[in-house]
Parts: sequence; structure tokens; C-alpha cells
Amino acid sequence: MSAALVPAPAVDAEFPCLREEHVALRDQLRRFIAAEVAPHAVQWEAEGMVPRSVLRHMGELGFLGIRYPEAYGGSAMDTVATAVLAEELGRSTFGGFAITVLVHTDMASPHLANAGNDIQLSRYMPDLIAGRKIAAVAVTEPGAGSDVAAIRTTARREGDEWVLNGTKMFITNGVQGDIAFVAAKTDRDVKASRGISMFIVEKGTKGFSVGRALEKQGWRSSDTAELVFEECRVPAANLLGEENRGFYAIMRNFQNERIVLGAQAMGEAQAAIALTLEWVRQRQAFGSPLWDRQVVRQRLAMLSARVEAARCLVYQAAWLDAMRRECIKEVSMAKALCGELVNEVMYDCQQFHGGMGYIQESAIERMVRDARIQSIGGGATEVMLEEVAKRI
Ligand SMILES: Cc1cc2nc3c(=O)[nH]c(=O)nc-3n(C[C@H](O)[C@H](O)[C@H](O)COP(=O)(O)OP(=O)(O)OC[C@H]3O[C@@H](n4cnc5c(N)ncnc54)[C@H](O)[C@@H]3O)c2cc1C
Repeated sequence: MSAALVPAPAVDAEFPCLREEHVALRDQLRRFIAAEVAPHAVQWEAEGMVPRSVLRHMGELGFLGIRYPEAYGGSAMDTVATAVLAEELGRSTFGGFAITVLVHTDMASPHLANAGNDIQLSRYMPDLIAGRKIAAVAVTEPGAGSDVAAIRTTARREGDEWVLNGTKMFITNGVQGDIAFVAAKTDRDVKASRGISMFIVEKGTKGFSVGRALEKQGWRSSDTAELVFEECRVPAANLLGEENRGFYAIMRNFQNERIVLGAQAMGEAQAAIALTLEWVRQRQAFGSPLWDRQVVRQRLAMLSARVEAARCLVYQAAWLDAMRRECIKEVSMAKALCGELVNEVMYDCQQFHGGMGYIQESAIERMVRDARIQSIGGGATEVMLEEVAKRI
């Protein structure tokens, strides 16, 4: 697999919502990825894990706290900054590295940031922002993914403790994570969505274990695990947010997660187009570079146009979210569109790489595998389109 740096992006328009601080963040991220990620990430793919030291370093540089209060070490930036972070991590071409970081910063930590009380925030937030501790979010189960309300993990109250029982599936950072934000049923006598609560469960808690690490098609440097809770007792103080309101917290945090996944996908798509442009301009066939074939040029031109349009939608959704405006429709559109588009881009980019695109030495081979999950995870395309359909 190639660790070559990705050439300048094929599309890199500035958006009205990008302020100086966003551009500075983007430049910093590009420098960090070139120096600290590109040279090592092939090895992380082989090892199935991003070293903890990388997150620690990112924490020291301030990349893990861009959305969180300065009081805990963050820089209190907005949702647009999150889109910048996700897009640049996506542009690294290493989806496994990108998702390791983004689950920590933007899918797990928001549960604490949005619902934690002062004691919980002071206890955990500084370590998460500094990268001293890694977070996971555990909602999905073997029998419940898209349908969150169908989860079966339970938590029953006994004195000053909650007792958790159940199994969670496909949990990113499940092996490395130090803190998991776990969804469980706390009231089985009401409508499913009204009886779910969130809990903070620390690694090492008796009854909490990693069932198994899961081998995946792509995102190989991201650790994914099955987590098991067997009479796992956590203090009553570890209830995160209001009892029985967890479903609504999950739905709210999905908004940020979906903006992130859309932006990451468009970062990956831009990088793939850039790599392919470089390839087709030098690869000779039938006496001239592939670029001389109109069909190749036009296909890449149209993909560039579609990626640029999808980026606009992602940044629009991020800006609406930053302005605290209702944006479920735009976020769902962006997630659906980007999840599908990134796969189309990868298909064509691999096609134009010819046989080399099928060989693990070429980045595009890995990127094709990494992209596949984008239309499934964090809200499958069909589920997103139902959200859109309800609102048009
Ligand atoms: C690598 C990886 C990492 C993940 N990380 C996490 C994590 O950190 N934490 C976490 O909690 N979860 C995580 N997930 C879970 C992920 O979000 C779910 O896989 C996803 O939500 C889909 O759920 P499911 O797999 O149960 O598919 P299902 O819900 O069984 O759906 C299967 C398919 O059916 C179709 N479908 C579903 N619902 C509808 C509908 N209403 N209408 C039409 N078609 C529909 C879609 O095509 C969908 O892909 C991860 C998954 C993977 C693979």
C-alpha cells in the first residue's frame, strides 16, 4: 500500500462559512497529516490499530477539543470546524485512522459534552480532549442497528448502582477505548424510545469486557469490537443525562455524526480524484496518456463537479447546525448523498488505475475498501432518505 502524499486536491473551493480560524485549522491538519500520519499509517493498517500515542499527540496539538469548552482544554469552535477536521482526516486516504479520531472527538465525546453534569465533565473531559483517554460510543447491538429503539441491553437500578446486561456490536475504539458511553433500556414498560438511558462505563469495570475484536473489509487501522456487559455495576452517578431520555440524546448526536461522516467521505473522494488525475496524466495507453481520452477526462470532470456540490451541502448543513437552525433534512441529505457518491468515485478511480488499482501497493485499493461502509454506518442511505422524505 502506498504511503505517498496525496497531491493538491482536485477540488478545494472556499465556502462563505469558512472563517480564518477554519482555514488555519485546515492548514495545521494538513501539515500534521503529512508529517505524522502519511509516513506511518500503512503500518497501522497492518497492525489493526492506530497507536494511542498518535491520539495523545493530536490532543497536545489541540485537535481533539476543537468543539469543547476552553475550561476543559478545548477551543470551543463550531460545527464548521468539525467538518474541516473530518474532511482533512478523510483526505489523508486512511479511513481507519480518520474514524478512530472522529469517533473519539465527534461521535462518542458529544454524549458527555452535551449531557454530562459538572462533576462528570470535570472528571472526564480534560483527559478526552488531551487524548490521555480514548472514548467509544456503544449503541448498536447484534439485533439492533438502524433501529436504535430495538436495543435489548438493560440497566436496572439497585441501591446506588446501575447493573448493565447485554452485548454491543461493531463498536469503534472498543478495544483501545478507556471510556464507553453505553445505551441501555431502563424502562421496558413504556414505548421503546422513552425507556433508554445512557451510561458512562470505564474500562476495567467488573462485568465489562471486550467479547472479540472484529476483522473488517476496510477501516483496518480502526479497532472495532463486540462489547459484553454481564452484571456490570456502575455507580448511580454514571447515568449520563436524564433517565429514559437517552434515545433523544442519541438522535441529537447523530446529527453531528452524520455531518462528520459526510465530510470525511468527501475528503476521501477529493483525495481519490486527485490521485487518479495524477495517474491518468502520466499513464500511457495506445500511444498517449489516459488523460487524452475524452471519456476519462469527462468522467473525472463530472465526479469533481458532483463532489464539489456535495461538499457545499455538507458545509451548508454544518453551518446551519452551527447557527442552531433546524437541519435534519440537510444533514440526512448530505449523509445519503456523500455515502453513495464516495463509492461511485472510488469505483471509477479504481477503474482508471487499471490493474494497479487492484494491488495493495496503491492507495486506491485501500480507499475502495474503506469507502464501502460510508453508505451503511451511522445511518444507512435508505434510513437517511426516509428522514428526507418526511421533510420534503
Ligand atoms: C466498521 C463499523 C463501525 C461502527 N462503529 C459503531 C460505533 O462506534 N458505535 C455504534 O453504536 N455502532 C457502530 N456501528 C454500527 C453502525 O452504525 C450500524 O452497522 C448501522 O447503523 C446499520 O445497522 P445494522 O448493521 O444493524 O444494519 P440493519 O439495521 O440491519 O440494516 C441493514 C440494511 O438494511 C437497510 N435498511 C435498514 N433500515 C431500513 C429502512 N428503514 N428502510 C429501508 N432499508 C433499510 C439498509 O440498507 C441497511 O444497510 C459500526 C458499524 C461498522 C460496520
